[in-house]
Amino acid sequence: MDGRNIETVGVRRTGWAALDRDPQEDTVDYTCPHCGSRGRKNARRERALYHFTDGFLQDLQGEVTQCRSCHQSLRVVPVVMLHDQDETRRFEAVFSEELPAVPAQ
Ligand SMILES: [Zn+2]
Repeated sequence: MDGRNIETVGVRRTGWAALDRDPQEDTVDYTCPHCGSRGRKNARRERALYHFTDGFLQDLQGEVTQCRSCHQSLRVVPVVMLHDQDETRRFEAVFSEELPAVPAQ
C-alpha cells in the first residue's frame, strides 16, 4: 500500500437494502474514480470494525482493490453499511457530493 491510491466511497448493503441480490453475497459496491465504472468486491472486513460515524455505520479504514475495467488500484473508503431503503436514500443525500456522477438505473 503506497498511500497514493485514489479514494472512492463504498457501500456495503445488508438486510432490507440488499433484497435485490443473493443474501449469501456480502459485497462492497463502488464507482471507480479513474474510469467511472461500477465495481464490486467481496467485503473482507469484519462488521465489528465498522463504527457509527456521521449517522452511518462506516469502516473508515476501507479496503484497497483494483478496478476490473481500467486495472488501476483504488482505495474504497469509507465503506458505509446500509441496512434499509431509508438509509440508502439518506446516504445518497449525504454523500452525493462525493460520488462521481452515476447514470440512474
Ligand atoms: Zn477503473
